[in-house]
Amino acid sequence: MIFETHAHYDDEKFDADRVELLSHLLKDNNIGNIVNVGASFKGCEDSLKLANEYENVYAAIGIHPEDVKDLNEDTLNWLRTHSADPKVVAIGEIGLDYYWEKDDEGRALQRQCFNQQMELASEVQLPVIIHSRDAAEDTLNTIKRYNTQIVNGIVHCYSYSKEIALEYVKMGWYIGVGGVVTFKNGRKLQETVKAIPIENIVLETDCPYMAPEPHRGERNSSIFLSHIAEKVAELKGMSVKDVEDITYENALRIYSKSKRN
Ligand SMILES: [Zn+2]
Repeated sequence: MIFETHAHYDDEKFDADRVELLSHLLKDNNIGNIVNVGASFKGCEDSLKLANEYENVYAAIGIHPEDVKDLNEDTLNWLRTHSADPKVVAIGEIGLDYYWEKDDEGRALQRQCFNQQMELASEVQLPVIIHSRDAAEDTLNTIKRYNTQIVNGIVHCYSYSKEIALEYVKMGWYIGVGGVVTFKNGRKLQETVKAIPIENIVLETDCPYMAPEPHRGERNSSIFLSHIAEKVAELKGMSVKDVEDITYENALRIYSKSKRN
């Protein structure tokens, strides 16, 4: 079975077949647990709803750097309250995106929201899911600053160098590997996968986005995780079954890491 560590089934692109996918199609295709990740505040509410509706769906709640306008005292309190829900397994996705935000003030606001949610994650003792694009240094520095108080984390849709990945591995963190690893221009991520231990890798789609080859450009779903597992197996010189089993255990380890259990 494959553990889907990062999906967005609340997205409207799943309106036509969400029920079929979550009630049986994914299970029929070897997909075990699914973590549905909030990005906007509405995405957090919807993730929690899906998690309470389907037994094998869990929720991560947090405000994405592109949605920082959604973070205020009320929504932060909502996140704090609902982080105690037994189906909430992480705070995320949170982080920094300097690719879409070029403005200094906007970036400063992203850093402030990132810090607030890292503080929340350490307060409620849940792991974090990090979104980081074109902000390698500021992300790593923030995480290093909170690392002694925070439970653990995944750097999702990892896009930086293998050297930086090894810094995360040293801290006991996890690297989220998705469709990019199957792309012709995915060399950097392929090098990272080769360089880090399989014990620090988790599989993810980020669906409906980022469909792997041979489905690039199509709507993505967790069913395509098999292509990502196959590519990781090829890069690591392992069997696909071992990649699926070990990354499943990794995901279980991180998402059940909450110190309140
Ligand atoms: Zn995502």
